[in-house]
Amino acid sequence: METQNPFRLLPQVDEVLARPVVTPFVERVGRDLCRGFVQDVLADWRGEISAGLLDADGVTARLEGSLEPGGLVECLRVKVDEEAGRGVVKAVNVAGVVLHTGLGRAPVHPEAAAAMATAAGSYCVLEVDRFSGQRNRRDDRLSKLLQRLTGCEAAIAVNNNAAACVLALSTFAKGKETIVSRGELVEIGGSFRMPDVMEQAGTKLVGVGATNRTRIADFKNALTPETGMLLKVHTSNYAMIGFTEETPMEELAELARANGLPSVYDLGAGFLNDGVPGLQPIHGLEGEPLLSDAIRSGADVVTFSGDKLFGGPQAGILAGNLGAIEDMRKHPLYRAMRLDKVGLAGLEKTCELYLSGRGDEIPARALMRREPGELQAAAERLAGRLAKTELVESGGATLGVEPGKSQPGSGSAPGILLDTTVVRLVLKRDSAEVLAARLRAGDPPVFTRIADEALVLDPRGLLPGDEDLLVAAIGAL
Ligand SMILES: *Cc1c(COP(=O)(O)O)cnc(C)c1O
Repeated sequence: METQNPFRLLPQVDEVLARPVVTPFVERVGRDLCRGFVQDVLADWRGEISAGLLDADGVTARLEGSLEPGGLVECLRVKVDEEAGRGVVKAVNVAGVVLHTGLGRAPVHPEAAAAMATAAGSYCVLEVDRFSGQRNRRDDRLSKLLQRLTGCEAAIAVNNNAAACVLALSTFAKGKETIVSRGELVEIGGSFRMPDVMEQAGTKLVGVGATNRTRIADFKNALTPETGMLLKVHTSNYAMIGFTEETPMEELAELARANGLPSVYDLGAGFLNDGVPGLQPIHGLEGEPLLSDAIRSGADVVTFSGDKLFGGPQAGILAGNLGAIEDMRKHPLYRAMRLDKVGLAGLEKTCELYLSGRGDEIPARALMRREPGELQAAAERLAGRLAKTELVESGGATLGVEPGKSQPGSGSAPGILLDTTVVRLVLKRDSAEVLAARLRAGDPPVFTRIADEALVLDPRGLLPGDEDLLVAAIGAL
């Protein structure tokens, strides 16, 4: 074959975009992005030619080959698929972490999801009372539901618990001091550190006690005319053991009341258990503080996330006494942080499920409550189905079923692991990392865990329909 200038083999960008096979790509991601992708592929190839990688006769033939039967189109397809699969898309979670922040924390109950979809896609009754026709407040209903559920006097909802903390601190302690135990200056995921949050809210942090022990006298001694509020923070993502003492919220609330100060309890997860009809305990989470106890403790305000153990959509809920809640509602930041109609619709439905005795159907709870026997059966069934995939039948991978542990996740129940049974998958040719990456890049993306060089699949996080998707994803490898 005659040697020719390999650059000449590269097509023009517009010529590629005009090809009928490229039309579906243009329709999916738009002409400009497609043009950029074609330019990227051609630039890569130009780089390879310049580097001498593609200029020998045989290699030129390969370049020709990859241009002609659609090599360029294949490269384009990969880029377009990747682009279209970015963003917030459904994922399958067999990583063994129930409330996985990277995967959107709690999946809401299907009825909550339906209420959220309806609120998003239509007009909805948000700030008007449909029976009187009068204007009302968007979270009146939520407030009533949380009253019944937790015993609080009133509640409001904002975007997340971080926002709830900022709102409480700004309302009660801006320009003043906030007293908190040194053992509770937590960091929740990278960018949420209590000391930084306080600085943002314009309150001066007064840390008291020692890291491992704080007593009520420490708070008492730190009171000054500058004190704005007393704060307790649940150390939701780490556990202290040994010689430790924390100040009970009851004592803190009493001290605050005696001094005419507000007290706030950042509870974190919003865990409900006893006192709510129909709820069964979640084995392993006995140490997690309960929302109803926090309300009963006398704190003026309790803050918690909607999407942790509460099992609803992302939200920050502030529940407590009427006066304190009204003070926060009047703060200008509330308007900037208040929850949207979609989140409210999901939270209301989640509360209604708890109140009607169906709380254990809420996925976050149902997944944590799955019995070891049921999980073992699920793992065996999954392994049985995977054994029939081509990958395993051809000897390309080996399978095993063994006991394992799941994590509650999202800063709840630190140190607690739940018993499960996992499927182990080991590939002959590729490492577990490569396999995990391919499953993540698939459609839908599947998130797994790697342990001892094997891919570990924990069935605990499988929602209805997910098992089929998982088997199909592995079958497609
Ligand atoms: C999780 C958590 C937060 C942050 O809540 P987001 O809803 O993620 O904003 C704050 N405080 C505590 C104690 C938490 O556990």
